[in-house]
Parts: sequence; C-alpha cells; structure tokens
Amino acid sequence: MLEKVVIANRGEIALRVLRACKALGIKTVAVHSSVDKDLMHVRLSDESVCIGPPSSTDSYLNVPSIISAMEVTDADAVHPGYGFLSENADFAEQVENSGFVFIGPQAETIRMMGNKVSAIELMRKAGVPTVPGSNGPLDNNNDRTLALAKEIGYPVIIKAAAGGGGRGMRVVHNEAALLKGVYVTQTEAKSFFGSGVVYLEKFLENPRHVEIQVLGDGQGNAIHLGDRDCSMQRRHQKVLEEAPAPNIPAAIRAEVAETCVQACKNLNYRGAGTLEFLYEDEAFYFIEMNTRVQVEHPVTEMVTGVDIVREQLLIAGGASLSLKQEDVKFTGHAFECRINAEDPVSFLPSPGKVNLFHAPGGIGVRVESHLYSGYIVPPHYDSLIAKLICYGDDREQALIRMQIALDELLIDGIKSNIPLQRELVRDSEFHIGGVNIHYLEEKLSS
Ligand code: ADP
Repeated sequence: MLEKVVIANRGEIALRVLRACKALGIKTVAVHSSVDKDLMHVRLSDESVCIGPPSSTDSYLNVPSIISAMEVTDADAVHPGYGFLSENADFAEQVENSGFVFIGPQAETIRMMGNKVSAIELMRKAGVPTVPGSNGPLDNNNDRTLALAKEIGYPVIIKAAAGGGGRGMRVVHNEAALLKGVYVTQTEAKSFFGSGVVYLEKFLENPRHVEIQVLGDGQGNAIHLGDRDCSMQRRHQKVLEEAPAPNIPAAIRAEVAETCVQACKNLNYRGAGTLEFLYEDEAFYFIEMNTRVQVEHPVTEMVTGVDIVREQLLIAGGASLSLKQEDVKFTGHAFECRINAEDPVSFLPSPGKVNLFHAPGGIGVRVESHLYSGYIVPPHYDSLIAKLICYGDDREQALIRMQIALDELLIDGIKSNIPLQRELVRDSEFHIGGVNIHYLEEKLSS
C-alpha cells in the first residue's frame, strides 16, 4: 500500500485524487504553481510544495521540480491526473528510475500507445476492430500511397502517428488532393510532434464517439467497466458524456468490450485506461488508447459503483485487481456536463473572480469541482471548472435530474457554459440518444 502520494495536477482532478487518497489513509502532497496556492486541494492536503511560476511549462510540466518535491517530502508515488504529464513516457520513466512509483502504466506501454501506428497494430493483433487503413506508416512511394487510398476508398484521413489533441489530421476527398495532403500533414507533424510519420484511414462520415473503460493490474488480470458515449463535442473537445452509450445492441457492446479486455491482457496493462472508438452503422472502429484516468470517468463510476481512482491507487501499491469481470454490475444511467469558464456563445475563456458558487444537490447528483465563493480562476490553464454528474435508474430519470441540477447550479462573477448545457439537456435529438460527433457543431452553426 502506498503511504504518501504527490498529486501532480490541479483543479477538480487534483481534488478528486486527494479525496481517494484520504479514503485509503494515504498522505498527500500538493505540488502547485505560485498562482495556485489557494486551490482547494492545496488547502486540504497534508503538505504542499510550490514548484514554479504560473506557466505550465515551468510548473506542472517541470519534471525536475516535481521529482525533487517527491524527494524532499519523502513521497513514494506520483498521481499525474489527466493532461500535463499523464501520458508522458519519459516522465513515467524518470519517476521510476528515481525510485518512485508512477501511478499509471509502465513507461513502455505509454510510449507504445502514444504512437498511433503501433497502438493500432497491437489492437488489431488482439482482435480489436480498427478503421480500414494503411495498417502502418506511409513510405515515400507515391504510387503505393495512391493505390492504398483507392483501395480504402475516399474520403480518407491522413493522420500523424504522434498526433494528439485533435491536431495532425487532414481529410482528403479525392485522388487529386492526396499526395499534397500527405506532404503537408508530414511537414506539420514533423514540426508539431517531432515526427513526420503519417498513416491513412478511411474517413467515417457520421460516427459516434464511444469508448471503453478498462482496468488492469500488470499481473495478468484485466477487466472492463463498460462504455461511455462522448459524441457531444466542439472542436474535438468533449462537452457532455454519458454511460452507457445509448442505443447499441447488447451483443455488439459485449463483443467489443471483450476484445478490449483481451488487448489489455496481451499488453499486461497496468492501471486505468480507455480505448476510444468511432461507432457507425453498428460497428466499432478503434482510434486510440488513453493510458490515464479520463475527465469523464465519473459516469462509469456511477453505473458500476467502482471508484476508478481508488483502483488506480491500489494497483500502483502492488495489489492485484480486487474485482473480477462477473463482479461488475451495470445499473442505471449517468450523464456528465463539463462546466467551463467561457463565454457560452463565443467560447472565449472567462477567467476571474467567482463571487458566488452554489452547487446543486439531491438524489443522484454529484459535483466534482474545486470552486468556492471568492476563488479566482487563473487565465493560465484549461477552462474546466466543474463537472456535474447525475445518475438515474434509467436514462430518462438521469436526464431530468440533470435538467433540475443545472437550473440550481450558480456560478456568479465569471461567464460559464451553463446556459449551453441547459439547452443541450433539453434538446429533442439528444433526448432520443445517439447523436453523432458533428451534431453539436451543426446545431451551433444553425
Ligand atoms: P487525437 O489524439 O488528436 O484526439 P483521434 O485519433 O482521437 O486524435 O481523433 C480525434 C477525432 O478526429 C475523433 O474523435 C474524430 O472526431 C476524428 N477522427 C479521427 N479519425 C477519424 C476517422 N477515421 N474518420 C472520421 N473521423 C475521425
């Protein structure tokens, strides 16, 4: 069992990790930038260390500072949360080489999944369905590239192997645009990600984003915790998520989850992870794996009763999985609305002082937020300030609870996307369930 954990993150996820540590009797160290000294989890942690100025590069991404904070506080592990260093294989490696535990997969797993070409290859071998494509990087043979694209069928998407955050992708609709598209994507990928390796995939026109949550213990055991639908997106950023994904035939759902478990067993996967898929015409297509806890993990927790961060901590402490697949029971439905400090119409960030924060309550309502009245949202980081999660016995009940909770939620002083979320949970198409990844942007532009 771990004794003292450094929380190398900020905001709601840092507080989430702190709570899970406390519940297990694990001591906590908050490492924070100078502007974040008043964050809720910094106040509540056993110890805190300022690791640098506001800029993320000099603080939350400052590896030597974080490792020296682990040394001076005599911590035994670091939880990276999501974003920042959570999928940085070099960081994980340096942590372990310094004699500490990285709460997440082994560095080589992170590295392998960070390269989309090797990730897809590995998943295909495990029987996970992938998007028809080049099955490997493109070489410099133009004739071969043209023949490949013809075989896959237009439109195709050119993607950078090292891509992330929705960057390093280009859709091509016909042969005339292919070679130039490949060249431009290679050049961009080289300058953004340091690697010009690109590959081809069939471009799916109207898919949904459905993902599978997995847990592995690095000792040969792995389970899945079902699926989530995160199709409500703007600029590839998820806005509103739910579990389970609605309107998917039970047999198709079960089959894809089973292949994910098999892939994790093949990888001897350690920790929490998510396999992301596009879902179209009752078929799943793997696109990438995230080797960390995700923002939307609470919806899965609500329908399974499994505390995912607690499991991460136990696994990192060396425990084998406490759950078997047959122990995981799925009941009810849950939604999560991401609340961002941003203008609900222009989407421009809206940092500043929160004069008043009032959280909703009631049965099935969960709030994950570091906000309090008087807190100042700094301009330096991601705009996520709260997650509102509502559970119900079924989708209808969960949705009604979300409508009521959103009406109760009050954040005064800064702008937020609460008005947009209130509109979305009353949207008639969303009510039916299963909107595709373009739905929100089309709605916003109409
Ligand atoms: P990133 O790592 O940058 O998030 P992903 O591979 O997860 O990249 O893709 C991000 C988004 O791009 C997907 O959620 C989807 O909207 C779109 N996308 C990626 N691949 C395809 C594809 N083959 N067909 C259609 N859309 C795609």
